[in-house]
This record gives sequence, structure tokens and C-alpha cells, in this order.
Amino acid sequence: MRLDHIMLEDFRNYARQEVSFDPTCNVICGENAQGKTNLLEAMVCLSTGKSHRTRTDRELIRFEQEGFRLEGSVCSRGREFTSHIDVGFGKKKRITVNQVPARMASDLSAVLNTVFFCPEDLHLIREGAAARRRFIDASLCQLRPRYAAALAEYQRLHEHKTRILRDCADRPDLIATLPDFNLRMAETGAILIHYRARFVRMLSDCAAAAHSECSGGKERLDIQYRTVKTVSDPFGDHRLLVIQLLEHQREHHYAEVSSRQCLSGPHKDDIEVTLDGLSARSYASQGQTRTAALALKLADREIHREIIGEYPILLLDDVLSELDPKRQEYVLNRIGSGQVFITCCEEDRLHSLLKGNIYRVKNGVVR
Ligand code: ATP
Ligand code: MG
Repeated sequence: MRLDHIMLEDFRNYARQEVSFDPTCNVICGENAQGKTNLLEAMVCLSTGKSHRTRTDRELIRFEQEGFRLEGSVCSRGREFTSHIDVGFGKKKRITVNQVPARMASDLSAVLNTVFFCPEDLHLIREGAAARRRFIDASLCQLRPRYAAALAEYQRLHEHKTRILRDCADRPDLIATLPDFNLRMAETGAILIHYRARFVRMLSDCAAAAHSECSGGKERLDIQYRTVKTVSDPFGDHRLLVIQLLEHQREHHYAEVSSRQCLSGPHKDDIEVTLDGLSARSYASQGQTRTAALALKLADREIHREIIGEYPILLLDDVLSELDPKRQEYVLNRIGSGQVFITCCEEDRLHSLLKGNIYRVKNGVVR
């Protein structure tokens, strides 16, 4: 999978910019606040339909402009594709792939996959569960369109149920609508659990191998999927999962109504990472948690390759400069085949380590 060319129009601090890329390594360097991350963000948008940094598309529009446009030329599965995103104030977002209007954002992921890695990800292990769920969701949404659809539906139901729980003190009649929401949340929640259980199993295998390699075989990393307590087997069949989710909801009904919060469901899922049997979140050292986070991210890339048959493009935003030389070398050796985009500051001495095209970004212009 390769991004050959990109065009940005009124996107972030870019007025209009076209760039052609190398099929292997692309180093994007420049001083702070010049547009390096913005360029990677445009690539993420072209693979997921939205930014990983913002909740609204509005923020992506260049100041004082009416809208933005992105175009990417991609080679994947041995074919050429051109994807477009067109966003404007008061207009519906338009996405096309080879001129054909896309029905949903996952049509973009069917063409281009990205794994994004930035310094904050090095704290993935220490962070709260939400960060790890975002990591899993970002990957699964690209890989499994059915998951992406179920997640969007689940989030919609969750927001709605939360509003009901908030308002039902003043309007007790709303409580009668809860069973319907609970059933629909259990149905979609079971789909999420189905995919997450399988993803985490693959993640565990791939990340253990990466971690062992990076730590010189000294430590054993293990990852376990943690979901709703009543679920006896996350690999179990759909009907059983639904029944068990409903059971958990029933047990928490009064707690939900009195706390006015949605307490039951896979929106609280987590993965537990252990090193030699000890919780990494509680016991691992800084270096160990970094290595484990690195292993998770590299494993993500391997999973993409296993499922879609080719490497996704890897976006390393400032992450190499955050790593010590040993881990830098490890990451660079691991990349092997596949296309990679690496941002770094002008003064980094990384350049000597990297082979490939070098691009210089200054004030929203790439040279
Ligand atoms: P660093 O090395 O500090 O990470 P960077 O080169 O990655 O810097 P970016 O995050 O890509 O920097 O770009 C930041 C610049 O883009 C900021 O100066 C910011 O003001 C500008 N910017 C962000 N959003 C917009 C927008 N919607 N319109 C215009 N400029 C924007
Ligand atoms: Mg940046």
C-alpha cells in the first residue's frame, strides 16, 4: 500500500499544496508549528474520513476560508485509486473514491490504511482505559467496516441513553424507554465484543513477539481483553453475548438511574497489559511501559498486514526523537518493507539514520 501523491487545499495552514512521495521512506522536517503534523493529519483524514486530533471538521479548514479539499493517489491491492474529501461550511461532507461517492468513511479505509504513532502513544500503557479503547477502535474501524458501523451506532445509543438517565429525574416517563435502548445496546455491544476479542488475541501474539525482540528476550508481555463482567466468553456466540449483556444491565439498573450514568456495556472495555505476569500499568518502569507501547503500535501494523495482505502506511510523528538510540534502531529495523512518513525537527540528527526523500516544511509550504 502506497500513497503516491497528495493535494491539500485550505487544509489547516496549507493554502494549496501538492506533494509526491517516495514508495519507501519520507522524512518531513521543519521547525515547530510549520505544518508537519498537519500534513500527516491530512493522510489520516484520507484513510478514515476524519482527523484523529479533532472532533469537528471545522477546525481543519484554513482560517478565514469556507472549506477544504483533500485528494490522495493511492496504490493498494495492485490497483490505483484516487480519493477525495470535500468539506465546506453548511455543506454535507463529500467523499469519493475514483469519482464514485462513498457511502461511508470506511470506503476510504478500503483503499488506504494508516497507523499513526506520536509521542503521546508512548504513554498508552499508563493512561486510562479510554486511550487504549481509542487505539483498538482506530484500528478496527479501518479493518472492519461492520465494526465501524456498529461502533457509530453504539455511540449514538449510548449518548441517547445517557441523556435519558440525566433527564429522567424530572421526567419519570422516560424510564419506560430504557428497555428498548438496553436491548439495542446489547445487540450492538455484542458485535463490538466479538471483534475486540479477536483483535486483542492477534494483538497479544504480535505485541509479545515485538516486545520480546525489543527487550532482548528478557520480558514476557501478555495482553488480556477485559470486558463486561457477566460475559463468560467474549468469543462466545452472539445470542449468548446479548443475554449476558442484558443480565449486566439488569444488575446495574438502579445504580444507573441513581447515578444518572450509563454504567453497563462495552464502552468501559479495557485491555490489561502484563509484563512477566505483573500489571504493566501499576508496576512497570518508564522504559518498560514505553517498550510495551511501542510493541502495541508495531503489532497494530502487523495485524493490518495479516488482515489486508499488505502493510498500511506508517506515520511517525516526532516519535523517533523521543526514543533512545536502541529503540530508534529497533523501530527502524522493524519497518522493513512498507511506506513510512517520519516527521522531525530540523536539528534532529535523525537524518543520518534515514534513507529516503527529505521534504522541508516552512509555514505551510513543502519543498
Ligand atoms: P511541531 O514541530 O511543533 O509539532 P508542526 O510542524 O507539526 O510543529 P503543525 O501542528 O503541523 O506544526 O502546524 C501547526 C500550525 O498550523 C500552527 O501554527 C497553527 O496555528 C496552524 N494551524 C492549525 N490549524 C489551522 C487552521 N485551521 N488554519 C490555519 N492554520 C492552522
Ligand atoms: Mg507536530
